[in-house]
Amino acid sequence: MNTSLHALRGSNATLVKAQNLSSVLIAIHHLQPVSRTDLAAKLNLTAATLTNLVGELTSLGFVEETQSPHRQIGRRPRLLTLNPATAHFVGVEISRTRVQALYVDLGGTIHGRVTCPLPAQQPGRFVLQTTIDAVRAVTEGRPPIVGIGVGVPGPIDLERGMVLTPTNFGGWAHVPLTGLLQGEFGVPVFIDDDARTAALGEHALGAGQHVPNMLYVSLGKGIGSGLILNGSLYRGTHGLAGEIGHTVLDVRGPRCDCGNHGCLETLASIPAVLQRARDVGLSVDGIEQLLKAATGGNAAAATVLEDTRTYLSAALVSAVNFCDPDLIVVGGALVQAWPGLVPRLGASVRGHSFQQVSSDVQIVASATGEDAAALGAATLVQQHVLLRPDVVRGVTRS
Ligand SMILES: [Zn+2]
Repeated sequence: MNTSLHALRGSNATLVKAQNLSSVLIAIHHLQPVSRTDLAAKLNLTAATLTNLVGELTSLGFVEETQSPHRQIGRRPRLLTLNPATAHFVGVEISRTRVQALYVDLGGTIHGRVTCPLPAQQPGRFVLQTTIDAVRAVTEGRPPIVGIGVGVPGPIDLERGMVLTPTNFGGWAHVPLTGLLQGEFGVPVFIDDDARTAALGEHALGAGQHVPNMLYVSLGKGIGSGLILNGSLYRGTHGLAGEIGHTVLDVRGPRCDCGNHGCLETLASIPAVLQRARDVGLSVDGIEQLLKAATGGNAAAATVLEDTRTYLSAALVSAVNFCDPDLIVVGGALVQAWPGLVPRLGASVRGHSFQQVSSDVQIVASATGEDAAALGAATLVQQHVLLRPDVVRGVTRS
């Protein structure tokens, strides 16, 4: 959870109280189970102020108090924990191949999952209807939700909640996704680029937990990334940071939908790899077939895969030299189809980055796997709840 109190502004009493409530809730979320004494010290609050705030959060249902199993001098201390059942929400991934909806509680536990495959090149209205159907199906018979988070191929206009012009994505252009879904379900909707929500998911609940600086790279039909800097998602001035798929590796290479030539996505996305295989006379429908051919001694197949690894390695070395992360997490359909890819990328990147960086940087496969983008989208709603528990609970009760 990358929750920053800087998101709260204002100086009147109501906002200050809301900010204090949020501070206490976020601290309990991060430190749980935690004693009142430790919490007061951490937040620099008096015992009386903390008692009032914890009392309010308890009455709203967000916080529970339990007895510690460990006895200290005299008596067992009472510990505060988050009540995950207070709020539920849906995290959605809309990708070029499927829609996945997860029903998640405030603690990040998944209670329901609906996955709908998308046939190739469907019109936007079909993808939108599939998304609506998936959210309806995963929430059916369950407690009401307080919001929906969506990860979708970018670029995204975050201010207007609009999907702009994703490459290779069924003609989607300037789709006001936030407004459409809010109108349909009547709850707040938060959207972001799918690679960035995957980075959030991996950082909150996967391989990147407790790592301050992390780069998540998604390799599939498209190539994207999300950058966590000092524990928070970095979006850039226009919300467009992380478009690693449009790193130019060959200025005379294939033309990309973005307008440039030789972008990483035109060389190492799954469709690009399969196209290069067909260009050298191989008849393959998927990465698994290509791997099988290479393992069976087909030199052309081996070269296509080796070139792919070289392109990916070059882009990752540039990224490591540029942002010096502690960890790179690599996920997406290409990684799932090609299990040996990540260790080889790790060795290659460590061999070509600055020595001070390469001795430390870890490169691992995604731990949340196919759930990463939808789970991260759910954390967008979780962040909203933790920042304004008073508002969220008030709405839920009415
Ligand atoms: Zn491009």
